[in-house]
Amino acid sequence: MSDKIYLTGDRPTGRLHIGHYVGSLRRRVEIQNTDDYKDFYVFIADAQALTDNMENPEKVRQNVIEVALDYLSVGLDPNKVTIFIQSQIPELTELSFYYMDLVSVSRLQRNPTVKTEISMRGFDSSIPVGFFTYPISQAADITAFKATHVPVGEDQKPMLEQATEIVRRFNHIYGDTLVEPQIILPTNAACLRLPGTDGKAKMSKSLGNCIYLSEDPKDMKKKIMSMYTDPEHLRVEDPGHIEGNTVFTYLDAFCRPEHFEEFWADYKNLDEVKEHYQRGGLGDVKVKKFLNNILQAELEPMRLRRAEFEKDIPAVYEMLRKGTEHAREAAAATLSEVKRAMKINYF
Ligand code: ATP
Ligand code: MG
Repeated sequence: MSDKIYLTGDRPTGRLHIGHYVGSLRRRVEIQNTDDYKDFYVFIADAQALTDNMENPEKVRQNVIEVALDYLSVGLDPNKVTIFIQSQIPELTELSFYYMDLVSVSRLQRNPTVKTEISMRGFDSSIPVGFFTYPISQAADITAFKATHVPVGEDQKPMLEQATEIVRRFNHIYGDTLVEPQIILPTNAACLRLPGTDGKAKMSKSLGNCIYLSEDPKDMKKKIMSMYTDPEHLRVEDPGHIEGNTVFTYLDAFCRPEHFEEFWADYKNLDEVKEHYQRGGLGDVKVKKFLNNILQAELEPMRLRRAEFEKDIPAVYEMLRKGTEHAREAAAATLSEVKRAMKINYF
């Protein structure tokens, strides 16, 4: 039997988008269906979301259920995967508190993801301490479940590095207790950090540049048709650029050979489309229409599944309650080991 333990999660700051899908969700469903794992945990990081949404608890609360619906809609199966709500597991907070002793302020300040996210949110020096210590709480989330594999997008790489450092430091001081996690990145380069529809930053719930998995078909088409392409490709006959052209990045992430038979018989594969575009003579509108067809086909089954699950929200909460109960047992067992190792087990 496999001894792999997978863990991954999302912040309930909005509905999930196609960046989440190619960066992490698609992989989760594939792994779930291999049965090559001992445990698979997927969590909704509501406590983490509150660190930069502290004045907006209702938003976070609403999005817990939205994210749960997104999970179910992409095909995560609660019988195979333990889905839980972070804030309902106090053991995670307790672990974070002890890990804080193992990390210096300057190390946190150097964390590239923390740096980027601070500037993205305009925090500067007014950064909430809870947000600043985000890598520490993430290390607690990972280690509480003895996760060996963490499938996430590239932006999480520095987080995993910092979690590994915490594990090593802990084990060095207190004896072998925690397990070093391994990051699982998307293998397709376009999926590492999918850009937003604005073509500038990464697609992110907090930036309003997303195509949501539950996006209405008309709204999605509108977003795609107004997407950023190549500013130098003014007339159809002009040669176009692929590099930094978000429409092509999305095609790299989503397009499969069978899409040509179905939607665009003029070409056999994406390379042919790219060549024509670079040569000149292929207009943006045609390429965007193709992308729209692909994304509509990809998201339609998700929309239908979501609509089914939306009919019974109490059942979704019940699924989360059960998952949380199960996850809490695992976290409590690790916390006991941690306290024993740290010699703070008195009674
Ligand atoms: P927020 O803006 O609130 O941070 P987010 O859109 O960045 O939200 P997260 O909940 O922080 O989403 O990320 C959840 C997971 O999805 C992480 O594994 C992250 O690496 C991955 N992810 C998020 N955005 C992208 C993206 N644009 N491309 C690839 N992976 C992504
Ligand atoms: Mg994020």
